[in-house]
Amino acid sequence: MDLHTIDSVMVPQDRSDLRGLGEQDGLLAGGTWLMSQPQPGLRRLVDLAGMRWPDLVVDSAGLQVAATCSIERLINASYPPDWRATDLFGQCARALLASFKIWRAATVGGNICLGLPAGAMISLCAALDAELLIWRRDGSDERCTVTEFVTGINKTVLDSGDVLRAIFFPAAALVQPTALRKIAYSALGRSGALVTGRLDGHDIVLGVSAGTRRPIVLRLPAKPERVFQAAAAIPGQEFHTDAHGTADWRRAVTAQLAREVAEELTGGRP
Ligand SMILES: Cc1cc2nc3c(=O)[nH]c(=O)nc-3n(C[C@H](O)[C@H](O)[C@H](O)COP(=O)(O)OP(=O)(O)OC[C@H]3O[C@@H](n4cnc5c(N)ncnc54)[C@H](O)[C@@H]3O)c2cc1C
Repeated sequence: MDLHTIDSVMVPQDRSDLRGLGEQDGLLAGGTWLMSQPQPGLRRLVDLAGMRWPDLVVDSAGLQVAATCSIERLINASYPPDWRATDLFGQCARALLASFKIWRAATVGGNICLGLPAGAMISLCAALDAELLIWRRDGSDERCTVTEFVTGINKTVLDSGDVLRAIFFPAAALVQPTALRKIAYSALGRSGALVTGRLDGHDIVLGVSAGTRRPIVLRLPAKPERVFQAAAAIPGQEFHTDAHGTADWRRAVTAQLAREVAEELTGGRP
C-alpha cells in the first residue's frame, strides 16, 4: 500500500549513515509487513538494502546471515553437507503463513524484528543457539540470544534507530539433528503453536514459540516424557489467546508437540 505519511526515502550505504535515526524513521527490509498497513508515525523510510551486506557468510565457525537476507535465499542456498540442521531453515519457512511469493522479499531480520509469536525465523534461532548482532543507534554493538531479543508480542529490545545487523548460527549446532512440529487451526494457517528441537549429545534444546508471547528455550535430558513434562510446566501466563488459538489450547498442544519433537530426535527411545 502507499504510505501516505512518507515524504522521503534514505538509502544508507555504510554504518555512519545509520547514526542518529529517530522515531519517524522506518527501517525498510523486505517491506512485506511495513507496507501492509498504515504507518502514521513514520515520515521517512530507510532502505536497508543499500547497505549491501553479504546474505550468507559460511566459515569454520558457522553461518552468518545478514538481517537483510531473504527467507528464500536462506532456504535455497547450498551449505556444507554435514550441516544437517539447515533442513530446519525450510521447515521454519513453511511454518509461516507467508507463502513462497512472500519469502522472496521477506527478510530473516525483518521477521525477527517484527517479534510476532508466529515468527518462524525466531523459532529457528531458538533451536540453533543463534546469536544476534545489534547495531545500536549510538554506534555501539550488542550481541544477544533470540530469547533476550524478543521480549513479548511485537516487542523487542530494539530502540528507535537500532538495527539488527546479522544472525550467527554456530557450526556446533548446525551439525546436529533437528525436528519441528507445528499446529494451526487450518491446514496452512498461521501457527497456533510451534516447537523446534535439536539433539545436542544427551540433551535436547527445545524452542517453544507461536503459542507463547515470546520464545522460550529449554535444555533437557533427551527423554520424551521429561521433555513433555517440562513443556507442560511452562506457566500458563506465558501463553496467549488470539484468533489463531486460545491460551489453554496452546499450552496443551505445545506439550504434545514437544513430546513429538523429542520422540523424533531420540528415534522413539523412552
Ligand atoms: C500473506 C502474509 C503472511 C504472513 N505470515 C507471517 C507469519 O506467519 N509469521 C510472521 O511472523 N509474519 C508473517 N507475515 C509478516 C511478514 O511478511 C514477515 O514477518 C516478514 O518476514 C517480515 O520481513 P520483512 O523483511 O518484509 O520486514 P519489513 O516489513 O521490512 O519490516 C518489519 C519490521 O521490522 C523492522 N525491521 C526490518 N528489518 C530490520 C532490521 N534489520 N533492524 C531493525 N528493524 C528492522 C521494520 O522497521 C519493521 O518494523 C506475513 C505477511 C504476509 C503479507
